[in-house]
Amino acid sequence: MTRADELASALVALEQRLCLACAQAGRDRDEVVLIAVTKTHPISDVEALAALGVRDVGENRDQEAAPKALARPDLRWHFVGALQSNKAASVASYASVVHSVDRASLVRALAAGAVRAGRRVDVLLQVSLDGDSARAGAVAADLPALAEATAGADGLRLAGVMAVAPLGVEPARAFAQLAEVAARLRSDYPQAREISAGMSGDLEDAIAAGATYVRVGTALLG
Ligand SMILES: *Cc1c(COP(=O)(O)O)cnc(C)c1O
Repeated sequence: MTRADELASALVALEQRLCLACAQAGRDRDEVVLIAVTKTHPISDVEALAALGVRDVGENRDQEAAPKALARPDLRWHFVGALQSNKAASVASYASVVHSVDRASLVRALAAGAVRAGRRVDVLLQVSLDGDSARAGAVAADLPALAEATAGADGLRLAGVMAVAPLGVEPARAFAQLAEVAARLRSDYPQAREISAGMSGDLEDAIAAGATYVRVGTALLG
């Protein structure tokens, strides 16, 4: 089996999972966007997935994402990893959506980069679901200020929230908590409708809790 065949059958299987999860949640399949997380995989895999109709691609390191995005500017690039402020301008030059914004300094750096590049970048606020501010993600108490900074920043659009289910917490519980955070944010910022949640191991729980973006790596690419 060629790599392209392998990716094609993995995509069929994943699509079945997504359809079933949506049906069980009483949602339409088109309410959920699949992001293929291609980190550590070569651009040839991105090309093969694009040929199969995948339009949304995710990466977690600027150094790897930038050349891939340059090769395929027709795709929608999602930045899903920990982001340092000194990489923010580069990321803002190619990412359509940044899922991992958890502090005000990053908002400023992304906004400056987006303005310089003449682009508008969707921002998702990454939420820490175990309430530990030492981990990636903002704690709930810090979200209002972060949302206000993002909503008021040139070049950025506050688009919603993102989380990773913490180890040792049932994903269903974690994503229910994220859904509450998302609803609160949406009551102040109606445009902030996106919920980025769910990976290879827990995408069903995320879809049941209202995820609009799922970020899938290993179930698709191995
Ligand atoms: C790698 C990664 C994913 C994909 O994880 P899989 O378990 O391989 O599906 C999703 N989100 C983030 C933030 C990642 O870094």
